[in-house]
Amino acid sequence: MENTDVLIIGAGPAGTVAAAGLMKQGKKVVVLEKDVFPRFVIGESLLPRCNDILEKVDLLGSIEERNYIKKRGAVFFRGALKEQFNFAETFHDGWKYTYQVPRGDFDKALADAVVKKGGDIRFRMEVNDVEFLDDGAIVHYTDLASGYVHSIKARFVMDCSGYGRVLPKLLDLDEPSDLSYRISLFTHITNDKRPEGDDEGYIWIVALPQGGWIWVIPFAGGVTSVGVVALPKVFEEAPGADDDEKLRNLLLQEASLKDRLAQMEFVMPSKKIEGYSIGVKQLCGDRYVLVGNTTEFLDPIFSSGVTLAFESAYRAQEVVGKYLDDGSVDIQKEYADYMIGGVNCFRQYVKAWYTGELQWLFFSRNKTSAVKDRVCSVLAGYVWDQSNNYVSRPDKALAAALGTLPDEERFKVFE
Ligand SMILES: Cc1cc2nc3c(=O)[nH]c(=O)nc-3n(C[C@H](O)[C@H](O)[C@H](O)COP(=O)(O)OP(=O)(O)OC[C@H]3O[C@@H](n4cnc5c(N)ncnc54)[C@H](O)[C@@H]3O)c2cc1C
Repeated sequence: MENTDVLIIGAGPAGTVAAAGLMKQGKKVVVLEKDVFPRFVIGESLLPRCNDILEKVDLLGSIEERNYIKKRGAVFFRGALKEQFNFAETFHDGWKYTYQVPRGDFDKALADAVVKKGGDIRFRMEVNDVEFLDDGAIVHYTDLASGYVHSIKARFVMDCSGYGRVLPKLLDLDEPSDLSYRISLFTHITNDKRPEGDDEGYIWIVALPQGGWIWVIPFAGGVTSVGVVALPKVFEEAPGADDDEKLRNLLLQEASLKDRLAQMEFVMPSKKIEGYSIGVKQLCGDRYVLVGNTTEFLDPIFSSGVTLAFESAYRAQEVVGKYLDDGSVDIQKEYADYMIGGVNCFRQYVKAWYTGELQWLFFSRNKTSAVKDRVCSVLAGYVWDQSNNYVSRPDKALAAALGTLPDEERFKVFE
């Protein structure tokens, strides 16, 4: 039977970063990917922390050469209220920009770069079963082109299968999320009247008065991604005979988007994803780790998905490498606990966004620039910087900041 050090399931952002890191360590890696690239995936707005990870595994160059539009921050709207966060003004001294990426192209660029370094990525190979042994695991997979089933023995398995959730399903690790069931309806458009200059690449997030929010993510070349995330009732109540009409109406109802999107044309029918928030019982076990979206997916509001996929992949490959070298690593502590720290930080912000408290802070004219810079560090993905109290104790820090704001502002946000 074929042998490898590490078998990676899935060649999305988590899988390719994990593969690049392990190859850098000299480990033998096989990546099995069920799809052919490029393929459509949602999750198109990166955070600056992504650049750090890509740089560490020598993949940043292959992304820079794609000439994606630079994302220098995020602009939030609610009715007439507006607040702009610039990644150049953060508490953490990190990257000042990142990219807006059509994921079909982005994921393919990463996979191509890994293959160019000698990586073994096998497309159209679907993992169906994993048998765990004392010294590794046997992974069974189907070649989707021929229908043949193959097996490979690995000393360690990294599950980077994203929404496929291969090991959580096989090992019964899924847990319901503590976040509400939401729907996302989205598409790509042209004829987006964008701001000019450096402002062009900012993500726009528009809070809906009826609950939920809209994203506007501009790509190089003139296509823009737009989407709505909300509770099911917002879509039920939206005017329109079908999803395309509902999406169009929800977008054009917003004062901040009326002019920008007035001439928009859909370049594909709208797509819908629902109930995507999911939890997991554990992030690692004997001979496996869960990485990226297979761990826990919170909510897209802060564009944290790919950042968490990259961070977990980078951390996991370091820890798995040490484990394979001499077994001298506590994977739960060094990997799982570390990741849960960052995820829980984002969780607090996601929850505070939906209760409205974070929106109150965002749109307040009375918050200090020190508070804004610290929050902006979180928005840039630096959620492991324990010297930032908005990371180490977000609940306390946010409560303290809100305590200084005049109450009438709260009413302005929620009137
Ligand atoms: C509505 C919405 C909007 C989002 N917006 C953003 C955003 O703006 N920014 C952001 O950072 N994130 C965003 N996300 C999250 C983002 O989509 C994910 O976090 C990200 O794709 C995770 O990467 P991954 O590598 O873990 O998984 P994926 O990108 O899902 O990759 C997993 C790969 O595994 C393969 N696979 C699955 N099953 C198998 C199998 N059995 N055998 C072999 N291969 C398999 C798949 O084909 C796929 O290529 C959004 C999510 C949603 C739902």
